[in-house]
Order: sequence, then structure tokens, then C-alpha cells
Amino acid sequence: MDTVSIERCKNYEYDNVYNCVEKLIDNLGGWKAFIKPGDRVAVKPNLLRYKKPEEAATTHPAVVKAIISQVQSAGGNIIIAESPGGPYSRTMLRHVYRATGIEKVADETGAVLNYDLRVTKINRPQSKYVKSFEILKPLADADVIINIPKLKTHAMMVYTGAVKNMFGAVAGTAKADLHLRMPEYNDFADSLIDIYLGAKPAISIMDAVEGMEGYGPSAGTPKHIGLLLASSSGFALDVTAAKIIRLSPDNVPVLRNAKKRDLVDENNINIIGENIENVICNDFDIPALYGAKRQNIIKRSFLNLIKKQSRPKPVISAEKCARCGNCVKICPAAAFVYDNRNIPSIDYKKCIRCFCCHELCDYKAVDIRRGVVSRLMTDRRFSGFR
Ligand code: SF4
Ligand code: SF4
Repeated sequence: MDTVSIERCKNYEYDNVYNCVEKLIDNLGGWKAFIKPGDRVAVKPNLLRYKKPEEAATTHPAVVKAIISQVQSAGGNIIIAESPGGPYSRTMLRHVYRATGIEKVADETGAVLNYDLRVTKINRPQSKYVKSFEILKPLADADVIINIPKLKTHAMMVYTGAVKNMFGAVAGTAKADLHLRMPEYNDFADSLIDIYLGAKPAISIMDAVEGMEGYGPSAGTPKHIGLLLASSSGFALDVTAAKIIRLSPDNVPVLRNAKKRDLVDENNINIIGENIENVICNDFDIPALYGAKRQNIIKRSFLNLIKKQSRPKPVISAEKCARCGNCVKICPAAAFVYDNRNIPSIDYKKCIRCFCCHELCDYKAVDIRRGVVSRLMTDRRFSGFR
């Protein structure tokens, strides 16, 4: 049976976070259950973009610092490694480390910030889809990986947490290649699972003090949840976190597929620390669900006919667009063309609805629009537990 530790953490005041992390890990047997003196420990926060901590798009530096300090006390040697969205370059890493407060954490703790752009091939023949892929070298070299996700919604995958966070182990544009190879959400969810299993984090510790609701993972709205969660199973952790925001795991492609692959049994998770019933967040705004509940109501044959037309789509706002061209560069499907005002517009025949443009636009100029059919199929009034 998988165990998930839950502790309340009301804010990011450092001493408070430190104590909460300590209790969280004590519930799981203490750091000695995960770290041996002298271990090379790679810490993998969610640093998807150069966002300030208060924007709640990235793992908060207070959480990262508390974990690093405690791992150092347990004898671990730390390197912080992440591949943000967009190009994987030293310049991008420097920008992201600085903006997210992680550079300061490294200065204060003596942890090493990774600037080594090399990758290491991982072969995993037993994977369902991604049997071979490359991950950041310091993650491959580590004795122990500590995965530190943020609880957020995700325009494409509905929710992002521990399993999805390990997609950042894949360097830069290789992520776009995987999007293109797996345009179907179901297949992409299975690839995320394969990558998580191949990267093998020893423990996932989730920052759910301030999460993100609405159309995350970067353009949503910060939402106070007031929790930290930890587990050696990213699947059990994500199932638990989804339940806390009243999102059925069956409506999250990664978790639905993880259940099918017997990687998690949602009815057989041992919760330690806070009682989950006491920490449920009832008013969390979940993105449009193209989910199982509504699909059951409309016959599948009809559903397949209208499926493509009714999928939510990205739409560029000409008023907000700063013409920076980032979306054009990162689009895995090369679906952008410039209009006569030099504003990018989208060729929907090519667009695979990965929403990378939405995620990586710094000006919130990419909206997500849902058609009438999509809205009917996902109307939350029809489902209490979403
Ligand atoms: S990334 Fe955003 S601001 Fe930049 S060109 Fe695209 S839509 Fe416009
Ligand atoms: S236009 Fe946006 S959503 Fe469509 S494929 Fe390109 S990046 Fe993905």
C-alpha cells in the first residue's frame, strides 16, 4: 500500500515551512529512509518559466530551501536541476533561477545550480510508449532524485503535480518533439508516466501552500490550499492531491491511465498526518474537463465524430500580444503563421492542442476558447465530484 503524508502549512514563512517539511518527512520514516550520507541528491522543482514566487506558477523557494537544508543535514550533496519551458540554454536557466528565487536559495544553502546542458539516454524497454529518452545529466547521475512539484491545474492535462513535473527532466525542445509524437492526450499521458518511471524520483514533495486554479500551469490564478504533501509514489500523491481539490482521478488522463496500468489503487492509499476529509478544498476552479462523466452521457460514436471540432483551442489576443514570437518558436506543430499586422495566428488544421503557447506566453495573450459542444459536455453543474 502506498503512503501519502499530508501536513498543513499556512504560509511561506521560512521557519513554518521548515517545521512542516520536517513533520511531513518524519511521517514517512525521516530523511534516513531516503538519503544516505554522501549521496548525490538532485532536487527537481517546478521552474517552468521566469515567474516570481508569488505568481504560484513555480515551486516556492522557501519549500525548496527547507528541503535542501534538511537533506544537507542528512548528509546529501545537492544539485538543483530543471529544464524550464522553451530552449534549454545557460541564459534561460540563469533567468529562471533568478526570477523564481532559486538562485538565492543556492547562495544561502551552498547547493549547486545546474548549468551543465548535457543529457543522458535512458533506455526502458518495458515502457508503454517512450522506451528510450534523454534526461538532464545531473538527474541521471544522481543517487537520489527529490521531485518538488507544485499543485496546479493544466490546460491540456487538467492537473499537474508529481508525475507531470518529471517531464521537466527532458531537455528543452525534446519536450516539444514528444508533444508532436503523442498528439493524442491519452498517449501523451502514458508518455508522461513512462518518463516519470524512467527518471525514478525517490520521493515527491508537493508545494500545495499556494496552488494554481483556472487555466494553469502558468496563466491561471493563485489559490490558497495551505498544505504540503509527500510520498515515495508520485501516483498516490497525485491521486490524493486531486481528491483534495475535488477532482476525480478518472478525469485526469495521467491518473486514469496510471490506474489502468496498476500503478496506483486509489482506494488503497494510506494517509498519514492530516485527515484528508479535513483539508478538502471545495471551490477549486478546474479547467474544462473533456472527461469521462460527460462522455458517458453522449454516445461514443457521436462523440468521436464531433471530438475534434469541440476540443478547446488556443486563440491569440491581438490586444495583449507583444509580438515577441515565443509561441511561434516553441510550437511543436509549426502551426503558427503571421498575419499582416505581424501577429501570430494559428492554423488549427496543424494545431495539436498541446497549449504550450498558452503556457509559455509571458503576456497572457493566448486564451483558451471552448466551443458550444465542449461547454455542454463539461458543464460542471452536472457533476459534483469533478
Ligand atoms: S508568445 Fe504571446 S506575446 Fe509573444 S507573440 Fe506569442 S502570443 Fe504574442
Ligand atoms: S498552436 Fe499552441 S496549442 Fe497548437 S500546437 Fe502550437 S503550441 Fe500547441
